[in-house]
Amino acid sequence: MKKILVFTAALAFAVSAQQAERPKLVIGIVVDQMRYDYIYRFWDLFGDGGFKELVNNGYNCTSTHYTYVPTFTAPGHTSIFTGTTPWMHGIIGNNWFERETNKPVYCAEDKTVTAVGGTPANGEFSPRRLLVNSIADEMKISNSFHSKVIGVAIKERSSILPAGRSADAAYWLDRATGKWITSTYYRTDLPAWVNNYNNLKRADELLSKKWELSFPIEKYSMCGPDDSKFEGLFKGEEKPIFPHDLPTIKSLMGDYELIPSTPMGDIMTAEFAIEAIKGENLGKGEFTDILTLSFSPPDYVGHRYGPQSVELADCYVKLDKDLKLLFDFLKSHFPKGDYVLFLSADHGVAEIPGFLRQNHIDCGLIDFSAYTKAANAALNNHFNAGTDSNFVINAQNYQFYFNYDLMKKYKTTSEEMVEIIKPELMKFTEIRDVVPSSSLDEASNSADPVRKKFFFGYHKKRGGDCWIDFVPAWLLGFGNTGTSHGSPFEYDSHVPLIFYGMGVNKGENNSAVEIIDIAPTIANYLKIMAPNGSFGKVIQGVFKK
Ligand SMILES: [Zn+2]
Repeated sequence: MKKILVFTAALAFAVSAQQAERPKLVIGIVVDQMRYDYIYRFWDLFGDGGFKELVNNGYNCTSTHYTYVPTFTAPGHTSIFTGTTPWMHGIIGNNWFERETNKPVYCAEDKTVTAVGGTPANGEFSPRRLLVNSIADEMKISNSFHSKVIGVAIKERSSILPAGRSADAAYWLDRATGKWITSTYYRTDLPAWVNNYNNLKRADELLSKKWELSFPIEKYSMCGPDDSKFEGLFKGEEKPIFPHDLPTIKSLMGDYELIPSTPMGDIMTAEFAIEAIKGENLGKGEFTDILTLSFSPPDYVGHRYGPQSVELADCYVKLDKDLKLLFDFLKSHFPKGDYVLFLSADHGVAEIPGFLRQNHIDCGLIDFSAYTKAANAALNNHFNAGTDSNFVINAQNYQFYFNYDLMKKYKTTSEEMVEIIKPELMKFTEIRDVVPSSSLDEASNSADPVRKKFFFGYHKKRGGDCWIDFVPAWLLGFGNTGTSHGSPFEYDSHVPLIFYGMGVNKGENNSAVEIIDIAPTIANYLKIMAPNGSFGKVIQGVFKK
């Protein structure tokens, strides 16, 4: 009898020791559009306690890449937290053409739900188009849904998709009111802590002052001139220069679009994340909780001003302070240090083509309306199709969607259509190849890395019928100012990845890591199953054994 008691006590101790090894809170941080090199470009401008704290005391994977096209926000966030790519998780772009309805759809749109706490249309979002589990879903499944999961981001897709399908709530910013909201997919009312934060009217307070530089402009020596013809303007501005008069711009714009478009949105995101941890008691229960957190403003600032701008550098200086606010809070709120976090990005960004051209680097703007016109003309001519001219009915995510009714009428196949349009499209200097989607199955074994990236970005039920393959540096879908992302190339696919906190080794790893390795690495550390669609690998050396 005594023996049994001793054995039982030992077992109980062993079990509690096993549980105690787990962190109480996991925070997955995404910085929207943060390219890998930004940490080092802006290093001298950073203070202590933000990015430098992560690099100096965390585990830095310096060669982390996206392995699919297109490198856009929704697929990026989804791939980080699901450990798989659009090929499996189905989030093939921010938008795509839906064959069932013959219409373009938004990745998170859901007309069956509505806003809780804000403008109804700004809450018609849910993760219903996500086809797999996120790491947060797996955390919940591991303990019969006792873990709490909260998503926070100004962009609804960046809040919803990482938090997965079974999250307790995902919160995003209602740009009409400047308040944080959710949708009826998650709950029917806002918790008191959300209302309390909204009642502070931080958006009004933050937009009551000008956006000033954090340092004298001479310190931003890694940037180009503040007054650059390649930068976009806010409404009413004549030049893209500091200080940006936010109160005046806001009065012209009427809504709260300036919150996501300036570093003010990062302050609100960090503050709201802290309120979420406190308000939901995250990390204070028996089981590990998860907070997914994404900073959206660096993407808007990057699109408008580009990587060489003083605005972008200052955005990161201010984000660094917001990260310090969050990290300092975590240290005091979890005195035992029983939390773990990682920071990465959903994609990088290209340089502004005009800026590159000015320096003898040949590139330009990708123009899908011109390619669609050329393809339709070639097909119309080939089939003597008279007034039938819309053989290509949509172009999304570097892909053409063909018109199946016309394919039937002219008894053709998508492979034949690609053969017909290819000679015309190859006349464009920026087009490297035109690839039928049906050939991509072979691409998983191909030596061509771009083909492989198409394969992993292609979903058979949601993708288009052919892919357009471009030379590097050409930019998708922007005007003469600002820049964008989406390509398979280094500048869009190489992002930071740093782990930090409980159990994390201090160090640096420069071997190749894929973005889909993050979720299985966290799952392995938490001793739970990796997400159900995951095919990433555990990154060696991140956690102490
Ligand atoms: Zn993004």
